[in-house]
Amino acid sequence: MSAPREVQVSAISDAVAGLCGQADIELPADVRRSFEQAMAAEESPVGKGVLARLLENADLAQDTRLPICQDCGLAVVFLDLGQDVHLIGGDLTEAVNEGVRRGYKDYYLRKSVCHPFSRANTGDNTPAVIHTRIVPGDKVHVWLVPKGGGSENMSKIFLLTPALGLEGVKKAVLDTVIAAGPNPCPPIILGVAVGGTFDDAAVRAKRSLLRELDSVNPDPEAAKLEEELLAAVNDLGIGPAGLGGRMTCLKVFVDIRPCHIASLPVAVNVQCHAARHKEAVL
Ligand code: SF4
Repeated sequence: MSAPREVQVSAISDAVAGLCGQADIELPADVRRSFEQAMAAEESPVGKGVLARLLENADLAQDTRLPICQDCGLAVVFLDLGQDVHLIGGDLTEAVNEGVRRGYKDYYLRKSVCHPFSRANTGDNTPAVIHTRIVPGDKVHVWLVPKGGGSENMSKIFLLTPALGLEGVKKAVLDTVIAAGPNPCPPIILGVAVGGTFDDAAVRAKRSLLRELDSVNPDPEAAKLEEELLAAVNDLGIGPAGLGGRMTCLKVFVDIRPCHIASLPVAVNVQCHAARHKEAVL
């Protein structure tokens, strides 16, 4: 049996700090491609104009090294930790928070985290929300997702009666988008998790937002539902920035897994057009 690979937690701090700057400043290439496709498909001149401004904004952020949006988000960190890794040199959670602290300071990103009642800002954008999985292998895979408040506030979770079935799931998603209207800064991306439990569905809905926008879901049932939901959402007419048009939503990601015989959980995580995430492998 080979010895576990040792990884200093300071390397995770360094990676997270760098990812904060990249994620908040560089729009992912798949999101940019999706804006271009949406601009070509948009029927509303106003909607086309909004999409053109979003592309211009992404270019400006890249050229000036300033954030894509003033809301630099709460730092959500997904960590896939190889089971053959031995972390050394400190506490993993503190290492992630140290990376966030440094990244938000060094790249002049807005600190958007506060106490829920006093609203006193924590001053350094910590604590991060960290989701860790133990996976095969000897690598540490880190994703940094700055999540804006406007779109997160429009997200919903439903514990449906099983008899409501597939039609109930579709209605839950559409009701979420209708209630959100212009608030989550459309064009949006939807992460939809069906099945599992209350907690698990919420995390899977958020994790699904890590997928590439032009990726095809390997689960044919989920892929079909993604297409149906995207068409139904884009028939609502909310449009870019909520000013009317077809391109309300760029992509729906669906994740389906079994659930309790008495349950039908559905989590809908709404992502705004500032669909930021960057990753590193150590
Ligand atoms: S919802 Fe997204 S685009 Fe809108 S202000 Fe928040 S982070 Fe920015």
